[in-house]
Amino acid sequence: MFKLFNTLTRKKQVFKPLKKHKVGLYTCGPTVYLFAHIGNLRTYLFEDILKRVLKYNNYRIKHVMNITDVGHLTSDADTGEDKMIKALKREGKELNEKSILEVANFYTKAFKKDLKNLNITEPDIWCKATEHIKEQVDMIKELFKNGYAYETEEAVYFNTAKLKDYAKLAKLDLKGLREGARTQKRINKKNPTDFALWLKLVGEHKNHVMNWDSPWGKGFPGWHIECSAMSIKYLGKQFDIHCGGIDHIPIHHTNERAQNIGVLGNPAVNFWMHGEFLVLKKDRMGKSEGNIVILNELIKKGFNPLAYRYLTLNAHYRSKLTFSLKALESAQNALENLHEKIRNLQTEDKKQETDNKKLNEYKNKFLEHINNDLNIPKALALTWDLTKDKNISNKDKYKLLLDFDKIFGLNLDKIKEIKIPQKIKTLLKAREDYRKQDDWKKADETRKQIEKLGYKIEDTKQGVKVKKL
Ligand SMILES: [Zn+2]
Repeated sequence: MFKLFNTLTRKKQVFKPLKKHKVGLYTCGPTVYLFAHIGNLRTYLFEDILKRVLKYNNYRIKHVMNITDVGHLTSDADTGEDKMIKALKREGKELNEKSILEVANFYTKAFKKDLKNLNITEPDIWCKATEHIKEQVDMIKELFKNGYAYETEEAVYFNTAKLKDYAKLAKLDLKGLREGARTQKRINKKNPTDFALWLKLVGEHKNHVMNWDSPWGKGFPGWHIECSAMSIKYLGKQFDIHCGGIDHIPIHHTNERAQNIGVLGNPAVNFWMHGEFLVLKKDRMGKSEGNIVILNELIKKGFNPLAYRYLTLNAHYRSKLTFSLKALESAQNALENLHEKIRNLQTEDKKQETDNKKLNEYKNKFLEHINNDLNIPKALALTWDLTKDKNISNKDKYKLLLDFDKIFGLNLDKIKEIKIPQKIKTLLKAREDYRKQDDWKKADETRKQIEKLGYKIEDTKQGVKVKKL
């Protein structure tokens, strides 16, 4: 049985797609005004695991991800600056459309590179907010028609009082949502939780560079409307799963859901799924907290980006994960150990017999774990058990590890046994002999000779290991 946790019901539910064998998936994408930090990337890793588990269960997936390149204000509550404009100011660029597009392109490319480094499969459809203004305007018109929208001097708002179960997804009391809506008072806004669908070129947005015509005058869309418009455009009036970070629950996804109901009469989404935060000691990692770590910095420090992927596999997606360089180091060591095991499985063939019953037990347990709301930490622990199990032949272990890696995505199939040339083997033997004779000088010279030929020696508790430089 394949179960996923649905944020709306706060329960694990049996997953059944609307169409047999086919899953429509929408995941909120980046706002391309800064590098994504590794906390953001944890959410994309969780979504990648979800896709892999769906695929493992033989579902075909249509995955859509948006790129927010306009309209996302620095606060979720329709106040503050447009994040893209903030980026231009930060980078000392002129405020015009061309430079906005340049910044957006630069950070979009950087984001896609992060995904590639983390072995995250790309969505089938990327969609940019700026390329879907018409769809957003059409949706706002529909909301007017259905009585959910109203216009003020500053903006067009969604009237949240019209929707009885507005707070259902967030399960917050409205007071909590009100506090979320907080701060700056807007002219003629009816309810504190009402949110902007369209912002006009007045007040702090008077000189907003990116703007379009609309029935309500020149302006630009609010952030939430793009996800409703684009998810429905590409996935239809009802689709299976909508994901994002846990911070999207109280505002962004609550508002998306409201818009969908306002237009369609139903929320469009069957399963809402949310990934938990990455934390640094006590705080969540976030741009506003000023404690962000980006993937490139870790790569520059010498880390394999897949070590970060491995680290995230150790915590369930609905649990907080504490990040530290020490934890990343341990993850990298564990990953290297796994590589070592994979290499040994390819070289040492002791012709063991496999206990087929045991082998099937592993397969079934693995499926049970991943299908239990993506319990990857347990699946990973099982994988380590498998590497140590003497009842399974090396060949079968290797095959099964590569099969499990379809979920983990650690590129284990690329780890190949190192073929050591005879010349190096002879030198290694000579070095060992010198060491036995306590002739350290000669042993050291031989080591240098080996390094010159492109191989590195490591003396470990298990003996001498050789790696290609
Ligand atoms: Zn979104």
